[in-house]
Amino acid sequence: MAAYVSNMYRIFSRQLTSVSFHFRQYRSCLQRLAVKPVHPPALSSHQLGSSAASRQKEADVQVSQTLDRYKQRPWDYLESEEYVERYGSSAVWAGYRRNHKGGIPPQTTRKTCIRGDKICGNPCPVCRDPNIIIHHQNVKLLQQFISPHTGMVYDPTLTGVCMKQQKKLNEAIDKARDDGMKF
Ligand SMILES: [Zn+2]
Repeated sequence: MAAYVSNMYRIFSRQLTSVSFHFRQYRSCLQRLAVKPVHPPALSSHQLGSSAASRQKEADVQVSQTLDRYKQRPWDYLESEEYVERYGSSAVWAGYRRNHKGGIPPQTTRKTCIRGDKICGNPCPVCRDPNIIIHHQNVKLLQQFISPHTGMVYDPTLTGVCMKQQKKLNEAIDKARDDGMKF
């Protein structure tokens, strides 16, 4: 009986060690699998760090340069290929639709689309494109927000422009009219 029990114990312990061995192998496999995809990019980015970083920096500089260019002369953007590709001949607000809860749209547009560095889900036509800058000399842009028949500024619920940008827009239109622009 004792021999039988010891025999069983030996078999059982062997099985257990083999199972634990397999488990250990499996775990190391998992670790290797988990680690593998992480390592090469980290290594490569470390090795190629200087060239990739410099390329990224160049791209950043180019983007900031174009932004600065449009900041100084915002009306240039409306003549650019980029603008034509994006909007064609229609107004910047054409086709914009604000997300809202329920079937009835809100009676006012939102106060602002950008708070600090947080941008809302579907920013208004002016806030969504950083190249669109409201300026009293940016006449072609201002014209898009004025009815050609009545000469009145479109209601923000039609264009979807947020209240902050609408205020800027009204001020710019007033200033342009003061300067002698006829809309
Ligand atoms: Zn906005």
